[in-house]
Amino acid sequence: MTKKLGLQTICTHVGEVKDEQFKGAVSPIYMSTSYQFEDVDVKRYPRYFNTPNQEYLSKKIAALEHAEAGMIFGSGMAAISTVLLAFLKTGDHIVVQNTLYGGTSNFIREEFPKYGIEFSFTNGYEVSDFEAQIQENTKVIYIETPSNPLLTITDIRGISALAKEKGLLSIIDNTFASPVNQNPIDFGIDIVLHSATKYLGGHSDILAGAVACSNEHMKIIWNVAKNLGGSLSDFMVWMLERSIKTLVLRVKAQNRNAKKLAKFLKSHSDIKNVYYPGLKSHPQYALAKSQMRGYGGMLSFELNDELDAVSFQKELKLIKSSMSLAGVESTMLSPYKTSHGLLSQEERDSIGVTNGLIRFSVGIETKDDLIDDIEQAITAVKKQAKIEA
Ligand code: PLP
Repeated sequence: MTKKLGLQTICTHVGEVKDEQFKGAVSPIYMSTSYQFEDVDVKRYPRYFNTPNQEYLSKKIAALEHAEAGMIFGSGMAAISTVLLAFLKTGDHIVVQNTLYGGTSNFIREEFPKYGIEFSFTNGYEVSDFEAQIQENTKVIYIETPSNPLLTITDIRGISALAKEKGLLSIIDNTFASPVNQNPIDFGIDIVLHSATKYLGGHSDILAGAVACSNEHMKIIWNVAKNLGGSLSDFMVWMLERSIKTLVLRVKAQNRNAKKLAKFLKSHSDIKNVYYPGLKSHPQYALAKSQMRGYGGMLSFELNDELDAVSFQKELKLIKSSMSLAGVESTMLSPYKTSHGLLSQEERDSIGVTNGLIRFSVGIETKDDLIDDIEQAITAVKKQAKIEA
């Protein structure tokens, strides 16, 4: 039934908790932490991820990602850490993409040695870079595409074929694309992860995570998830369900704006580099086109060397210089100070996260207002550069 529904209908209706008592139009919230234990089919408890709101929103996540099962977590990192710990044990090895969210990289580098789990980061994002790191004890391949913050594209079909050939589990962080632009399970990926704090939430007011995969894999994840306890409160689950109703509208508007802004920045004489998979000049444009329906709302760029990235962001009047991404409002940040701040300078240099790199999360505002804001900030920062020279 779900499979036949269109994406916008899934967002609006799948996973609603029916209000049988009062027939209200939206899902009621079940805040109870205590449910009947005897003579019931399901023993419900929030940390078992199976309250009515949790259970039903999971159906929406599964439908959006073309998966059998979904699960909602208290944060993206709760989802990521739980899934990795569910499939890796002492003596196992994981191959991890080198360009990925700093927090994930940090989790692996800091926590895995404590558990005796081995890991190798790739030297690039070609399928051969992953293959080169596979060892006898490798169990998992972990990718992120488009990646944070450089918008590199990994070949999803190629990775899933490699994983299948070698008998490995493939996991993807699909946060940047969102299920509107990319469904990795269609290409054979085993497990899809989201920081639902980003596009799924979309209003910069929910911290959450999500997982989508087969029933078989979900059983394994659930067994660990209930022990680690990273569930989301039912109020926030309800907020997330409400937010996802407009997911398609938001993401399509962000796709459109980001493409226009990327073209504007690309043609600007004060901008050195623009990274956006929807630009024909992006080295992996063809690959992006082959696996994405839209190119997303995220891009990165670098100003010419004489212009300071932090001063530029301070001059912005409409675009907020702030953490996180994917809200309806446009934001910018310097990854070297934020998402990748926990990596060493050497580690950042090795993946191209320069101090001048600016990550731009494009919102749904009127495109010309965003362009005007960028222009006035460039003019201001050029004036400053002249005074200082
Ligand atoms: N994955 C990506 C691509 C992210 O950008 C983030 C956060 O910025 C995360 C995972 C972690 O998610 P959360 O902050 O919800 O724990």
